[in-house]
Parts: sequence; C-alpha cells; structure tokens
Amino acid sequence: MKFHSFLIKYGEIGIKGKNRYLFEDALVRQMRFALKDVDGSFYVHKSYGRVYVDCDGDYDYEETVESLKRVFGIVGICPVVRLEDRGFEQLKKDVAAYIGEMYPDKNKTFKVEARRSRKSYPKTSMEINCDLGEVILETYPEMKVDVHHPDIRLNVEVREEIYLYSEIIPGPGGMPVGTNGSAMLLLSGGIDSPVAGYMVSKRGVELEATYFHAPPYTSERAKEKVVDLAKLVSKYAGPIKLHVVNFTDIQLYIYEKCPHEELTIIMRRYMMKIAEHFAKKDGCLGMITGESIGQVASQTMQSLAATNAVCTLPVYRPLIGFDKREIVEISEKIDTYETSIQPFEDCCTIFVAKHPVTKPNLERIEKSELNLSEKIDELVQQAIDTVEIIKVK
Ligand code: ATP
Ligand code: MG
Repeated sequence: MKFHSFLIKYGEIGIKGKNRYLFEDALVRQMRFALKDVDGSFYVHKSYGRVYVDCDGDYDYEETVESLKRVFGIVGICPVVRLEDRGFEQLKKDVAAYIGEMYPDKNKTFKVEARRSRKSYPKTSMEINCDLGEVILETYPEMKVDVHHPDIRLNVEVREEIYLYSEIIPGPGGMPVGTNGSAMLLLSGGIDSPVAGYMVSKRGVELEATYFHAPPYTSERAKEKVVDLAKLVSKYAGPIKLHVVNFTDIQLYIYEKCPHEELTIIMRRYMMKIAEHFAKKDGCLGMITGESIGQVASQTMQSLAATNAVCTLPVYRPLIGFDKREIVEISEKIDTYETSIQPFEDCCTIFVAKHPVTKPNLERIEKSELNLSEKIDELVQQAIDTVEIIKVK
C-alpha cells in the first residue's frame, strides 16, 4: 500500500489556547528535524487543527515511521491514503480496494467513521458511514460491523481530497522538545546518563550536555564514545550543545591535596559546579544526572546530599528510583546500550579510591576542600576557559 501522508495524533491535555499553538509549532519543528535525513521529500504542516506529514513522491516508509516514533509529543502515527475526489461511486470502489489490500485476513469487525471538513460535500457524514459500510459488507461478506469495539476503525475524512486511514502506530508520548525550557545533562560514557537525558527530554526539555575528560588518563576514543552517545540521544532530543571540559589538572590537584576516600565526592562537586556555570550561562533551568540511590558509593543519600550542596539550580535525577536492570532496559529501547558498554575508561574510574566514603559528612568534605584553596579557583577558571564546544546533531 502506498501512503501519501501521515496524520499525527498528539495528547491534548493542558494544551488549550495559546499553549496549543506553541505545542504544535514545537511538534512541527521537531518532526522536520527528525525527517531531515530520511530519504524522500516531506512537507510537515498544520491544517484544520491537525498535524500532517505529506510525502508525495518516493520515500522510505520504514525509516519515516522510525523517525517519527522518536518525536516526543506524538501519541499516534496514522498512515493515510489520499484520494482525489472523483465522485462517491469512485470512493466506494477505492474504499473496497483499500480494505482489500490492507487486511488480507477478512475475518474482522469494522466501523466507518466519516468527518467532513468540506461541508459542501453532497453526502452527510452519516450517509457516508452507512453507504461505505454497506459496500464493505457486500464486497467482503466475512466482515462484520461492530460500532463499539471494531477491529478496524476506517476513518474517512472529506477535505479537498479524501483521506483514508485505519492504522495507528504508537508514538513515544511526552511533550515536544522546546516546550519546557532547557537543562544541562552531565553526560558520561556510562549507561545511565544518556537514559537520564532521554527521560527529561521526553517531557519537552531541550538538552545541553557537559562531559569531563582527563587526557591523557582518558583517551580520545573515550571522548568519541560520549559524542556518539550524545548523537544517539539527539535523535530524540534534537541538537545538543556538548561542552567537553578538561578536568585533568583539577583531578590531579584534588588527588594531591585531599583524603583519597573523599576523592570521588569532591571531584563530583567540582563537576557539578563547572557544569552549573555553563548551564547558567546558557539559561538552562536545571541540571540532569544519571544517579540512582545506592547504586555506587557516590550515590548514597549522604553522597547525593554532599554533591547537591554545591548547586543552586535544581538537579533532576530521573533514574533515582530505578534499578540497573530497569535502566538497561530503557537504554536498549533507545539504542544507547551497545555504545555505552564499549570499554573505554571513564575519568572517574582512574582516580577512584579503594575504600571511598559512603556516608560523607558535608562539613568534613568542605574542610578537606579548604586544602585546595590556593589554586582551585584558577584551575576551575582554566577548565572553563578551555572548554571545547561540539554541536551534536
Ligand atoms: P553513568 O552510567 O551515567 O556513567 P555511573 O553509574 O557510572 O553512571 P557515576 O560515575 O557515579 O555513575 O556518575 C553519576 C552521574 O554523574 C552520571 O550519571 C553522570 O550524570 C555524571 N557523571 C559521571 N562522570 C561524568 C563525566 N566524566 N562527565 C560528565 N558527567 C559525569
Ligand atoms: Mg559513569
């Protein structure tokens, strides 16, 4: 079956009035972005309070649907057959042919649902329903009408052209990216942080990201892996401005001056501070990490509190109550898993202590950090000044 358009269904709760067109405009923008690299020429537009993708000419159906399935805000994707209006008799034939081709197994119940945007059409919606229903029953005697729970809901929309559709492919839900401000994701090469970014972006939040590396302790390849992960997340979240921060000197300095069991916590506090600097500079409204309670020593309630204490922006931790298994499941679904498990060293793994504190005391941590007072401001400034920005799309 050749489909000429897709009708896009989206959740409508809370999008009345002005919000509605902001929501729709963001949806259209994200759909265009998602279709940019798909084979074919696509026209994404709003019409009669609905959003459509018209794909005249040849296009890659599978790839188109796959791309649309990554656009947050879409609840359903309906492939549409568009017919030129050549009179009702012709429509009857076309509808019978449509059912014939779409449903090889005719042992099904159905219902016809007509809508007229063009009110001058010579038949009412009721008449269209009855007459087309009759044609289907005559052509395929195995089929039955069920107006309450039909297997097939055949939608017939009379506009300038006539639109037929009966399938709904589920979309990802959520809200279009760009309808809820932006946030800074602390992106490492692990499994968790890409998933965390995906989850917040699903609620309409645009993403920026910061990655800390420690050359030569971490390799160029480890950085490439993070860029690859950002690319995979951007298939859902749209373009991501990635900040790559050289953290080596800060890490070495902390290593030299602070108790080794506190290294991870102190390091993470500086990561948060620096990421927050870039977040505020770009007007982000929050930060995002992939932390989950108790996963590792630096993610106990006490450790999270100690890390949190350096930030003034809210820190969103969408995985906070998730087990690793549940996080892995999402990472497989969004296709970041295989990249995340590539074995490249993370800057944290090199400087980890054998016995990190699991219940850090904030006052003690702050006291240890006083050992850094001589040079740390300068090193932080230097890390900020030498940031590398990568626009990931
Ligand atoms: P992940 O799978 O996300 O790497 P993890 O289980 O390895 O998580 P940690 O290394 O303790 O956990 O990191 C917790 C969170 O801190 C990460 O989810 C990420 O948001 C942030 N983070 C850790 N390392 C880095 C880094 N090198 N650059 C940027 N953010 C980082
Ligand atoms: Mg990590």
